[in-house]
Amino acid sequence: MSTHPSPARRGGGCQCGAVRYEIDAPLEKIHLCHCRMCQRALGNAFAALAGCPKERLRWTRGAPKLYASSSLATRGFCADCGTPLTFAYHEAARVYVTIGSLDDPAGAPPAIHYGAESWLPWLQLCDGLPREATADDPRLRSMTVHQAPPG
Ligand SMILES: [Zn+2]
Ligand SMILES: [Zn+2]
Repeated sequence: MSTHPSPARRGGGCQCGAVRYEIDAPLEKIHLCHCRMCQRALGNAFAALAGCPKERLRWTRGAPKLYASSSLATRGFCADCGTPLTFAYHEAARVYVTIGSLDDPAGAPPAIHYGAESWLPWLQLCDGLPREATADDPRLRSMTVHQAPPG
């Protein structure tokens, strides 16, 4: 009897509305990443990201501009308003969207913290979730960073 869309179908987009997307799959690998690269890419204390198979993310208005922030991954953002929208490893089958760009961010509760080595000392999250450092992931050891150095 419900007239609501399937709970597996989720919309999102940037703050100016030029770029909109739809995900036709359950969100997976929902996490907060505190690594230094995500901090810089998001301009924030951490990135909040939710994944889905790449083929299940559809751009319904516009498309993000892409920046290869390293030799391993690309980040998408709205070229008009700058909202960070996506993160994806080149070789992976999964793409992540920023939880804040989802129409229903409350429906994407994180399950783990990544990038724990760069956790900001003033950030207090009493969530009891596991915390992994970036160096724990062997795929990242051969990465070449493309982000400009600080300063
Ligand atoms: Zn925009
Ligand atoms: Zn990160």
